[in-house]
Amino acid sequence: MMKNADHPTQLFLENYIGGKFIPCSRHIDSVDPSTGEVYCKVPDSGKDEVDAAVQAAKAAFPDWSARSPAERGQVMNKLADLIESHLEEFAQAESRDQGKTITFARTVDIPRSAYNLRFFASSVLHHTTDCSLMDHMGCVNYTVRSPVGVAGLISPWNLPLYLLTWKIAPAVATGNTVVAKPSEMTSVTAWMMCKLLEEAGFPPGVINVVFGTGPRAGDALVGHPDVPLISFTGSTATAQRITERSAPFCKKLSLELGGKNPALIFSDADLDQAVLTTVRSSFYNQGEICLCTSRIYVERSIYPEFLKRFVAAAREWKTGAPSDPENHNGALVSREHLEKVRSFVALARSEGAAVLCGEGEDPLVLPGRHAAGYFMRPTVITGVAQASRVMQEEIFGPVVCVGPFDTEDEAVALGNGVRYGLAATVWTRDVGRVHRVARRLEAGLVWTNSWLVRDLNLPFGGVKSSGVGREGARDSYHFFTEVKTITVKL
Ligand code: NAD
Repeated sequence: MMKNADHPTQLFLENYIGGKFIPCSRHIDSVDPSTGEVYCKVPDSGKDEVDAAVQAAKAAFPDWSARSPAERGQVMNKLADLIESHLEEFAQAESRDQGKTITFARTVDIPRSAYNLRFFASSVLHHTTDCSLMDHMGCVNYTVRSPVGVAGLISPWNLPLYLLTWKIAPAVATGNTVVAKPSEMTSVTAWMMCKLLEEAGFPPGVINVVFGTGPRAGDALVGHPDVPLISFTGSTATAQRITERSAPFCKKLSLELGGKNPALIFSDADLDQAVLTTVRSSFYNQGEICLCTSRIYVERSIYPEFLKRFVAAAREWKTGAPSDPENHNGALVSREHLEKVRSFVALARSEGAAVLCGEGEDPLVLPGRHAAGYFMRPTVITGVAQASRVMQEEIFGPVVCVGPFDTEDEAVALGNGVRYGLAATVWTRDVGRVHRVARRLEAGLVWTNSWLVRDLNLPFGGVKSSGVGREGARDSYHFFTEVKTITVKL
């Protein structure tokens, strides 16, 4: 690993452009969230670096797009093999960079990153185009799909390599070349992946990775005239800026954004399972998953019992050093984010809400090298008004609000009563209610009696302020290609 000469213990990342690591003249600090120490320098790329990457991607496009899907898939599968053979190194790096537990990185982030590559390498082989052989005004009609060109891919910090490969894989499988910009807060595993690309067999320029901040590197990518497509995962506020910035170019946009996901728990639910899964859905990965539950509405007859069991289970959800496999949660990604999450708890308290566990008790301070880390216990709040910012805005941390409801209509209205619409969960044994409520919920994904069960063939994405477009086998195939209808007069 490259080291910083002035600080020999620090990592020093470089951009990966045209198959080479290229030094950058400016850098930003990257912090280990579990210690609060700067441990890595990330390139602070701007227009020049982004332009060099776009030129490299343009140059690589004719050859890569002319290869068969099977040839491209071979290279992708080899990259998946290489990531898997370095799984532990990647997991350690992801845990240190993001603050998540080593267990989560080992069992979720890195295996799924490899799987993303394998999945799209295979799924792209199975799509067919439409063909109408009916003699329509003496013509045969059919469609062809072609890659779009240079794809601009921008990803967030919560699932760094997982979400980056979720974009890179369908983009290159369909014949595009890419310029990717990971989050400036979690760049290390993307840089590690770049070190494997040549061995996997990717020709120079097919995958370029430019590191840096949103306002400099991200903005330069979105505003580049030779990048016709942007796939973005991140906050709704950033998506608004990206939409405005790309509008003059009429770019293809896929926007996967924030959520304020409800869980509706009816009195006939399997309470043991509902509590167990809802604790997980609320606090998994420190609550830093766009699909995490942040509002729980419980039918009034079981509300006291649910709350008692839920708070007890939340207290059992252990927070501590990310390297300890016993811990369920590690550190939040940054000091700013921890302060933002805490500010919502303070706001709830100032509005008269009850903080039942977590931030309501002593703040969590770990001993030794983790004393300055950004840790926070799972926090359960009741008595928050539906109109409160705490109930309306995405918190994206280990905080959940719980409240009662009386009727199915009320539950649905509360669930839908925010500007977001990413995911929802419904807990009931009534089959009719399962289907009724799932249909009425304004969300891109509804899990019933479960959470986070994903078949990558199925569409993924949000409604309302949670996004535009869908990802998944067929949806990604459509997004990363342009369709053309060809009419042949016989
Ligand atoms: P963010 O919007 O701050 O940043 C996301 C990415 O966009 C980063 O790489 C950042 O550098 C870049 N960026 C920032 N400003 C930019 C600009 N002006 N132009 C171009 N790029 C810019 O989001 P975040 O804080 O990194 O991630 C958390 C958010 O992501 C949450 O809202 C979460 O819900 C959302 N998220 C959504 C999904 C999903 O699939 N729907 C998945 C994970 C995370």
